[in-house]
Amino acid sequence: MSWKPEVIADNSGKWNSNGLRFATKAEAELYVRDLAGRWTSVREWRVVECDDTVTHVWAHKSITVARIMQACERQRMTLDNPGLCIACGNEQEGCEPDARKYECEACGEKSVYGAEELLLRVLP
Ligand SMILES: [Zn+2]
Repeated sequence: MSWKPEVIADNSGKWNSNGLRFATKAEAELYVRDLAGRWTSVREWRVVECDDTVTHVWAHKSITVARIMQACERQRMTLDNPGLCIACGNEQEGCEPDARKYECEACGEKSVYGAEELLLRVLP
C-alpha cells in the first residue's frame, strides 16, 4: 500500500500521476506541494491511497545521505541527539535515533525523524 500524488496540469481536467509512490500521506503531500510550486501549469493536486509498492522517500533537498551519516556519527560519538525535518531540512536536537514524526520547531510539520531512522528510510 502506498500514496500517490496526482495533478491536473492541463485543460482536460483529468488527474495524472507519475511513477512515484510514497509510504506516507505526508510525504506524498510534501512532494506534490513542492512540485506544484515549481511547475506553474499545475492547477490542482491531491494525494490518493493505492495498492502499489512504495518507490520513493521524500526528503527536503538539503537532506543528503552525507548529512544523515554525519548526524548518525555525532549521535554515537557525542551526547547530541540530532533529528532532521524532511519538510524543511531543519536540524533539531533532542530526537532519539528512532524518532518519527516529531513536530518541527522551524516549520511546525510533524516531519522530524531521528538520524538513524532517516538513514534506514533514505537508503534502499
Ligand atoms: Zn521543518
